[in-house]
Amino acid sequence: MKFIDLHTHTTASDGSFPPAEVMGMAEQAGLAAVAITDHDTTDGVGEALAAGEKMRVEVVPGVELSVNHARLGSLHILGYWIQTSHPDLAVRLESIRGGRDQRNQKILARLADLGCPLDLFEVQAIAGGEVIGRPHLAQAMIKHDYVKSTQEAFDRYLARGKPAYMERDRMSSAEAIDRIHRAGGVAVWAHPGLIGLDESELEKEIEKLVAAGLSGIEAHYPEHSPETTALLLKLCDRYQLAPTGGTDFHGAVKPNVRLGSLEVPAALLEGLRARRP
Ligand code: AMP
Ligand code: ZN
Ligand code: FE
Ligand code: FE
Repeated sequence: MKFIDLHTHTTASDGSFPPAEVMGMAEQAGLAAVAITDHDTTDGVGEALAAGEKMRVEVVPGVELSVNHARLGSLHILGYWIQTSHPDLAVRLESIRGGRDQRNQKILARLADLGCPLDLFEVQAIAGGEVIGRPHLAQAMIKHDYVKSTQEAFDRYLARGKPAYMERDRMSSAEAIDRIHRAGGVAVWAHPGLIGLDESELEKEIEKLVAAGLSGIEAHYPEHSPETTALLLKLCDRYQLAPTGGTDFHGAVKPNVRLGSLEVPAALLEGLRARRP
C-alpha cells in the first residue's frame, strides 16, 4: 500500500529543512505524494517541484492559512493545487506577511519589557525564509536562555492569552477559501481535532465552512486520537467532504514528527483531486 503526506513545512516558513531536503526524506520514506504547505507563503513550492521531478514522488503545491474565528481565535485552512503566482492569492499573502512583521515587532517590544530582549536580525537569521513565526521567536529565546524549550516559550509568553501574545491581520475563513478557489485550488480544514470541539460544535463549524466552499477535512493527523479520526471520517461522509491527512512535519520545531510516520492511504489524494475545479 502507498502512503502520502499532505501537510509539511519547510524553511520557507517555520520548518527546519529546505524543500529539496524534505523531498529527499519523502523519497526515503517511500511516500507517493507530498504537499508543501508553508504558513502564508508558497515560496518553497518551486524548489520542491524541481526536486520531485527527479524522483517518483508527486508534489502538491499548497499553503496553510490561519483564519479568524470569533470564539476560538483562529483556524487553519490548507489550500492545494493553488497557482502560486495567481495575484488574487499572492498579493494577499504578501499583505498577510506584512501583518506578521508588524506583529513580530510588537512581540519583540513586549518581550523586551518583560526582560527578554531579542534582536530582530537574529530572529531573521534563525528564520532564514520570508515568514517569521512564533516558533522562530521561541528558538531565539532558548538561545538566550530565557526559556528551556519551545513549549515553555509558548506557555509563558507567546501563546494566546499570555503576556507577549499579539494579534495580527488574518483573513476570514470565507475570504481564505474564496482566494484559494480563485487561484484554482481546493480548501481543506487542517487538524480540526486540536481545538477541543465536540461533535455538534464540529458540525456547526463544518456547515459554515462547507457553505464557504470547503472540499475536505484533515482527518488523519498525529495528534488526533483514533476516536477523533473516526469522528472526522464520519463527518466527511455526512457532509460529502474528502478526508485527507498529513503529519504537519516541521523538522526540529516538532522533533517527534517524521515524514512517513503517519499512514495516510494514497487513495485519499484521488478523492481530493476529484474536487479540483
Ligand atoms: P504563528 O504562525 O507565528 O502565529 O505561529 C504559529 C505556530 O506556532 C503554529 O503553527 C504552531 O506550530 C506553534 N504554536 C501555536 N500555538 C502553540 C502553543 N500553544 N504551543 C506550542 N506551539 C504553538
Ligand atoms: Zn508551522
Ligand atoms: Fe496548522
Ligand atoms: Fe502546519
